[in-house]
Formats: sequence, C-alpha cells, structure tokens
Amino acid sequence: MKAIDRYAVFGHPINHSKSPKIHKLFAEQTGQTLEYTAQDVPVEDFKRSVAAFFINGGKGLNCTVPLKGLAYDYAEHKTRRAELGKAVNTLILQADGTLLGDNTDGIGLVTDLTVNQGIALTGINILILGAGGASRGIIGPILDLNPQSLAIANRTVDKATALAQQFQGDGLVSGIGYDELAGRHFDLIINATSASLSGQLPPLPEGLLATKQGNCYDLAYGTEPTAFVRWGQANGAAKSLDGLGMLVEQAAEAFSLWRGVRPNTKPVIDRLLQKG
Ligand code: NDP
Repeated sequence: MKAIDRYAVFGHPINHSKSPKIHKLFAEQTGQTLEYTAQDVPVEDFKRSVAAFFINGGKGLNCTVPLKGLAYDYAEHKTRRAELGKAVNTLILQADGTLLGDNTDGIGLVTDLTVNQGIALTGINILILGAGGASRGIIGPILDLNPQSLAIANRTVDKATALAQQFQGDGLVSGIGYDELAGRHFDLIINATSASLSGQLPPLPEGLLATKQGNCYDLAYGTEPTAFVRWGQANGAAKSLDGLGMLVEQAAEAFSLWRGVRPNTKPVIDRLLQKG
C-alpha cells in the first residue's frame, strides 16, 4: 500500500495555526489524499526536525515565525522571490531528493488585494509599516505591479532604509521613520509590523490615508478586528482588511506547488470567516 503524502507547518508557537484546516479543505475540494499537520519546532530543533520529516516520507513543508530565515538557509535551491526576501515559507521536495525553498507570502498578499478585494496596485502610492521578515517577502511582488511609489516606515529606521536600498533598482522605494510621515498621504497602507499581535499600533499621524479610495491592510488577523483594522475604519478607509485572505492565498500557492492543482480559495475563506 502506498504511504500517504505528508505535509506540515513548523513554527514556534504553532498551536493556533489555521494551516491544517486550510489544507484539509483544499484537499477535500480538489480530491487529493494527503495529511497536513502542525508541529511546534523551536529554533534549536529546526534542522533535526526538518531532516526527520523528509526522511519519514514528508513531501512538503511550510515554515512560519520564527523559522523562515532558517528555512532559507536550509534549502539547497531557492526561487527568485525567496532570494529577494531572504526568507522561505514553503519547502518542496524535488525528484532528485533536494529541497526547493519558495516564499508564497508576497503573492498571497497581492492575490488577496488585487483578485479578492479588487484593489489595483499599479500607479498608486503605498506605505508599508514594518521592516521585518514579512515586509521583505511582500516588497518584490508589490513592485512587480508597478506602484507609483513605495515607502517603508519602521521604528528602527536603519532597517527600513537598508530594505529600501535593497529594492532600489526595482522602482521608487524609500525607507523612513514614523516621524517623517506627517503631511504625507498614501492610497494603500499595509501593516507588516507585529504590533497588532499585542494590540498596539505604530504612531500614525492623522490624514495619512488618502481621503478618496484609500485602503488599509493588516497582515495580522484575529477573531476580532485588529488595532490597525480599527485605525483604518476610524480614518475613513474604503476597505480596512485583515490578513486572513493572505493566509489562505499563500497556502493555496504552496498547495499548488506541491500538488499541481490550484484550489478555489473563496469557499475556504468564507468557511474560516464563519464563527465557531
Ligand atoms: P518580524 O518580527 O520579522 O518584524 C516585526 C516588525 O514589527 C519589525 O519591523 C518591528 O520593528 C515592528 N514592530 C513590532 N512591534 C512594534 C510596535 N509596537 N510598534 C511599531 N513597530 C513594531 O515579524 P514578521 O515580519 O515575520 O511578521 C509581521 C506580521 O505579519 C505579524 O503580525 C505576522 O503574524 C504577520 N504575517 C501574516 C501573514 C499572513 O499570511 N497573513 C504572513 C506573514 C506574516 P523594529 O524593526 O523596530 O523592531
């Protein structure tokens, strides 16, 4: 009897991960037979746990906080978008036994914004809050859609300017501190800080969001609107969204890389939005 194809997400902590539910729904919808589990893997156990997973029949792995940099170092081959972000959230076992590292976070965000929410990125002024791992992963796919400008604001300003420098060749990118935001206006503000996870907000001046058709997007998500989603609502955003759609879209991209079939994400997002 053929062993079942195994997939998993590694992270620390991992107990609240929605990924097993998402991939179970994808598998049911597309008629694929597979197993997808969540495993708590601290940084110091990462290499050992990944090796054991693939020796025991693993076909593909997702890595989340704080393991994306380690997964980047571990993968023998990397896609361009993983190289750009220096982070890997998806490992794919290749026919020759080596691992390909990819990063599906950026395409997940862009798909949720443009396809699911109908927010065009071409020609608009975008502000990203935060210069951590998530920011690094989303900048390349955003720039691919040719915004008018992209500013990255961060508490530790050096990290924002270094990140902007790295992407300078791709368009009009700047790295700034929060004190440089006064008097500026953006069509789309993306919160890629982890501040929402502790109910906090970066210091944002009034009038930051362009008054007409401005949108807000928080990469974080929860059962209640995040502090940044509430900020967007209070500041007149046409749409103020959380990152649940991005989570499902990045998972769909990983699923199609592993299984060669693309699931329909809408019913899965709808299902996750149902309370209980
Ligand atoms: P990192 O730890 O790599 O980076 C955190 C960033 O947040 C840094 O820029 C840090 O600034 C900033 N920050 C933290 N607290 C505050 C605060 N109180 N005020 C201002 N800035 C703050 O985290 P990640 O980049 O990996 O993750 C960021 C967020 O994105 C998380 O909420 C994560 O859950 C979410 N995410 C969602 C995904 C999805 O599918 N929806 C996918 C990936 C990430 P500094 O550099 O100054 O410390």
